[in-house]
Amino acid sequence: MLNLILFGPPGSGKGTQALRLIDRYHLVHISTGDLFRQEMGRETPLGKEAKAYISRGELVPDHITIGMLRNKVNAHPEAEGFIFDGFPRTLAQAEALDQLMAEEGTTIHLLIALDVDDEEIVRRIRGRAAISGRADDANDTVVRNRLAVYKNETAPVFDYYAKQGKSHRIDGMGSVEEIFQRLCTLIDQTIHSLKKGALI
Ligand code: UDP
Ligand code: MG
Repeated sequence: MLNLILFGPPGSGKGTQALRLIDRYHLVHISTGDLFRQEMGRETPLGKEAKAYISRGELVPDHITIGMLRNKVNAHPEAEGFIFDGFPRTLAQAEALDQLMAEEGTTIHLLIALDVDDEEIVRRIRGRAAISGRADDANDTVVRNRLAVYKNETAPVFDYYAKQGKSHRIDGMGSVEEIFQRLCTLIDQTIHSLKKGALI
């Protein structure tokens, strides 16, 4: 198995790159943000609850997000591995993910953070708002809050996996293809180490 966390601030390109990576490495893509948007679109109780937080740019509480993630992982017993996109966003979520992976007899192998500067993030989110219709992309106050939440609550997840020797950063500025190549180089190195038995 290969279990990868794609990490980075809102608008850093996680979703775009995840779609390319699943094709290349035959992984299952789990974006908790996309799952919440599906629930909101269907107006389920979970969607209604999540909407209140998302519209303010706050995090949906850990127990809700972890429960939803767990269901999604359990729904894919055939998976050759997972790409976690936009999760974990807190240290408690990282601990829960590690526990879930251990229950499945596997582990997180790699976290890759996409480094993108704040100015570029704001530019990308504005562009996305125009086509996605996402209310949380269209409001500057909400976007600023999402960036603050990322810095305060989510950034520590990088250090959490760094302590396990699993965190890497790549330059997230450039063309989609250039960034994809950087990701593939790092993932191929990890697969190579896994084959040599250097990682679990
Ligand atoms: N969200 C959350 N927990 C998650 C994923 C998403 O609370 O695990 C909420 C949060 O309010 C966030 C919003 O959903 O601001 C959009 O998240 P998404 O990952 O889709 O946006 P991105 O960061 O990719 O721009
Ligand atoms: Mg996303």
